[in-house]
Amino acid sequence: MFGEISEQRVAGDIAPGLLTIDLKALAANYRALAARVAPARVAGVVKADAYGLGAARVAPALEAAGCRDFFVAQLSEALILKPLLNAGSRLYVLGGLLPGAEPACAQAGIIPVLNSLEQVAAWSRLARARGVELPALLQFDTGMSRFGLSPEDAALLTAELARLSGVRLLHVMSHLACADEPGCGQNADQLAAMARFAEGFPGVPLSFANSGGIFLGPAYHGALVRPGIALYGGAPTPGVANPMLPVVRLDVRVVQIRTVPAGARVGYGGTHVTAGERRLATIAAGYADGLPRALGDRGAAYHGTTRLPIAGRVSMDSLTLDITALPPGTLKPGSPVELIGPHQTLEALAADAGTIAYEILTGLGTRYHRVYR
Ligand SMILES: *Cc1c(COP(=O)(O)O)cnc(C)c1O
Repeated sequence: MFGEISEQRVAGDIAPGLLTIDLKALAANYRALAARVAPARVAGVVKADAYGLGAARVAPALEAAGCRDFFVAQLSEALILKPLLNAGSRLYVLGGLLPGAEPACAQAGIIPVLNSLEQVAAWSRLARARGVELPALLQFDTGMSRFGLSPEDAALLTAELARLSGVRLLHVMSHLACADEPGCGQNADQLAAMARFAEGFPGVPLSFANSGGIFLGPAYHGALVRPGIALYGGAPTPGVANPMLPVVRLDVRVVQIRTVPAGARVGYGGTHVTAGERRLATIAAGYADGLPRALGDRGAAYHGTTRLPIAGRVSMDSLTLDITALPPGTLKPGSPVELIGPHQTLEALAADAGTIAYEILTGLGTRYHRVYR
């Protein structure tokens, strides 16, 4: 099972953990989504360092697959990413601009999502002061109470479109609160609210769907969809067969093996007490590497198809597996075990930790040796 990483032999020999990111699968996921939503276009959401996978590698790979629109959350992320993209690609800041950030944004050719009347006013003021048109997206709050103009603010804006003078609106947009739950009534409510908002801006194309939204059907696609997790191989609709190719694989090496008698205490707090003689393996990743403490006595690693349960609490830099199910000698110091891969999906690990794939990916940390394939 480790043949695919043997090419990284030297680094692999000293790396306690190995995070493999399959850029071919990423590109294939991009193309599959593009085929699904055509004629709508597919943007790449690469906020939070491309969900922890490395925006500097992920965004150019998406660009090579045909992506021309990229979303990050914060201006600081956009400023780092902008020089890595082709001049023809567009880069948007989802979270809006803090007061005073407008000149730096405009200077770098980055496109803000305007989320409030204040942000509209500041962007328009800058455009007029410079005597240029500045591009922007305009976001409406269709039911998340997070970002975007309220219905009242939107009404003020449509009654007084001069507030947008100097602003070239590329898209009107909104975001779904429960797109990953097809049965959630809020999806249709938000779609209807989006349609009402959009009436005030005839001819401006829509951007609405995230990964889950794409799979709610064409009514949700608009002109530009904004997947993140699906590009990275996460399930767009948890509980339904995942149509995306896996992008992430995580293997962590065993650093020590021991056999303990019945009644041995394992880990901090001595919470895990062995019921009989057990063989235990300590592996070199813990909660500082994004394996949440909530996995203690719940989660597992895999060796092939064999489940190796986590025994006791997860430490900062290590955790302990019960490997009694494997024939003695199967694992040795240096042997890898699978945390995310063909036998344990990202969703399965997240579920054991009581969280979602997004939080696992964005928390993976910086200590793994990363291999981009
Ligand atoms: C993060 C985000 C996305 C991407 O969401 P996924 O569920 O990862 O596809 C799209 N739009 C907005 C506004 C977001 O904040």
